[in-house]
Order: sequence, then structure tokens, then C-alpha cells
Amino acid sequence: MIEMIETGTRPKLLAVPMLDFSREFAEIREEVLAAIAAVCESQRFILGPEVARFEAAAAEACGVPFAVGCASGTDALWLALAALGLGEGDAVVTTPFSFFATVSSILRVGAKPVLVDIDEGTFNLSAGAVEEVLGRGGERFAGVMPVHLYGQCADMKAFSSLAKERGLKVVEDAAQAFGASWEGVKAGGLGDAAAFSFYPTKNLAAFGDAGMVTTRDEVVAERSKMLRQHGMRRRYYHDEVGWNSRLDTLQAAVLEVKLRRVEAGNRRRLELASLYNERFTAAGLVGKTTAEGMVLPFCDPRAEHVFHQYVIRAPRRDALREYLTAHSIGSEVYYPLVLSLQESLKFLGYKKGDFPVSERAAEEVLALPIYPELRVEELERVVEAIRRFYA
Ligand SMILES: *Cc1c(COP(=O)(O)O)cnc(C)c1O
Repeated sequence: MIEMIETGTRPKLLAVPMLDFSREFAEIREEVLAAIAAVCESQRFILGPEVARFEAAAAEACGVPFAVGCASGTDALWLALAALGLGEGDAVVTTPFSFFATVSSILRVGAKPVLVDIDEGTFNLSAGAVEEVLGRGGERFAGVMPVHLYGQCADMKAFSSLAKERGLKVVEDAAQAFGASWEGVKAGGLGDAAAFSFYPTKNLAAFGDAGMVTTRDEVVAERSKMLRQHGMRRRYYHDEVGWNSRLDTLQAAVLEVKLRRVEAGNRRRLELASLYNERFTAAGLVGKTTAEGMVLPFCDPRAEHVFHQYVIRAPRRDALREYLTAHSIGSEVYYPLVLSLQESLKFLGYKKGDFPVSERAAEEVLALPIYPELRVEELERVVEAIRRFYA
């Protein structure tokens, strides 16, 4: 039986928030406040020692020699592209089923985003579709930007070999995938450069905006460092037109503390995802397609998923979401409108029907609450509410 609380005359399900950061904060309060206080005492707010320390620890966690902190995940994507020399006249292939910054960062360096459809199971950029568009020609293809959506790496082996054949640069949008891996290699070390976001909802989260570029290439790392600080190698000598995108020292201090917890957090997310799968299956709600029932997240056996999001395909998705909202159960749609149909990107010339797999995903996906501090009884309440909706 489900827990109820009396609110007025109608019994209501207990609320389950999509995320509750206060639970983690309660656990790390002393440690994180001490780290912030240390920065305040030192008064070194711009690229203080915490930044270099965090970069070294984060590089190690990602299994790469270089990490460069910056102001956001969006800036990390720009920096990675710019440091690799991608720009005017270049075409970069990416997915229409992602956050806006995936495409806007390509535009920001002056390159042209070329969109191709996703894989039905993983929601990630389809290697077959990329190969096809490259074969079609008509563009100066210079890069490919797979996104590790929801915390599961894209098929990086396929992208690496395509890139090698054709001399393309591979930039990972790893914003949702800190700690994830593909065939045993960590996100951040699977392409020529990668971008991470530490936006407060991500698996590794700052207390504000922050991001990071990782790479195995010393030249790319050095260029990223130069570009994040107005293109300066020597103070007030500007070799290139960069911008101000430093990682804030206070954020680095917070991230240093949180980095120590991210692996355990990712393990817990994986356990919670398995538990969701088990409970939905036991409730008889699951199908292979939305014609049969709800479709559970597909985990590619070559990937180690970190479940930044637990995303189902849901029959009557919008009605289900309304029902959950009415019962104070958090859910979210990542993303309701594909990038190819965004108002601001009309000039790219795409139309409805160009990316059928992505467009259908936009109509069917629903993210349910998942974070390391989510309680099992809360997860069970989510499952029970969904069971009642479909009953
Ligand atoms: C969050 C996110 C970004 C942007 O990161 P910010 O830190 O918010 O700028 C880029 N790509 C993807 C896939 C994201 O999820």
C-alpha cells in the first residue's frame, strides 16, 4: 500500500521531487564550507591553487593527462572545438537530440552543424547515419561531436574509426557523462577533446556554473588554457582572440570535495536504475515498443552507463507526465523539441520529418527522479503512481 498524507479532504501521494540537493549538502556541509572558507582566507579568487588541484584530480579520474577548467559546459564545447582548430568553413556532424549548446557551440566557432539522426535504443548519434552523411559529401567535414546522452557513451569505436579514415576531429559532449566509459575507456579520453559540464544538476555538480575540457593532446590542452584567458600566454600579449572563461576558484574548491564522491554516486545511480527496471517489470508495465508498454532504458553492453538520467519511453507520455505532476511526482522531458526544429536554428534549413527517430524520441521520452540520495521508498512511489496511471 502506498503512503498517503491528508491534504484537505483529498488523500495525496507523498511528493517525490525530481532532485533534492539539500540531502547531499547535509552530508558534505562541513567539508565544503571549509573548502570555501579556505579560498576566502587566501583571497585568491582567480585561478587559485584549487583550480590546478581540481584539474589534476579530474584528469586522473577521467584517465587523461590534461584537464582545463572553464566557466561552463557550453564554454567547454567552444573551447574544445576552437582548440582543435575547427572554425569558419568547417562542417561538424552532430545530433539533433541533445541540449542546445551542442549545436550552438559549433556555430559559436563559426563552423556549420550538420545534423544526423540517432540510434533508437541509446538515443545517441547513429554511427551508420554519420557514415552516410559523410559519404554524401558536399561539405568540408572536419569534425564529429557525439553526445553521451543521459550518461551513456555513444559508440566511440565507430566514431574514432570513421574520423581516422576521413581525418576528422572527434569532440565528445560528455556534459552528462562524468565517470561513464566505453569498452573500459572513460568519457573524456575517447576523442580528440571532450567537454564536461558541472551545472548543478549534473552527476558532478558545482554550486553554480562550471565546466572542463579534457584531452590527451598537450597542444590542445595548452591552447584551451590560452583561449580561456583572452588568448594570452604572456600577460597582456594576446596571441589569439580568446575570451574570459576561467573556472571560478570557489567552484573548483567545491568540485574538489564533490569529485571524491562522484564514483560512489554513479554506482548508486546504477543500482537505482536496476531497481526501477526490476519494479517496472514486476508490475507488468514493460514492452519492447510503446505499443506494448513502457520501454526501459537500453544499456549497451559495451558501455558503462552512469544514469545521469533514467529515461523511459512512455505510451501517452504527456498524459502520464500530467498525472505525475498532479500527484507531486517529479519528471522531466529531455528534450521536447529536436534542435532541427528550433526557431533560432531555422536557417539551417531542416524540416519536420528529417530526423524521424529523434522526433519520435522527443514525443516519447520521460525522465524519472534519479540521484544518489533518492530513497527506495520514493522510487517505489514513482513506480506505484505509474502503475496506477496505466491500470
Ligand atoms: C548541460 C549540457 C551542456 C551545457 O553545459 P552548461 O554547463 O549548462 O553550459 C551541453 N551539452 C549537454 C548534452 C548538456 O547536458
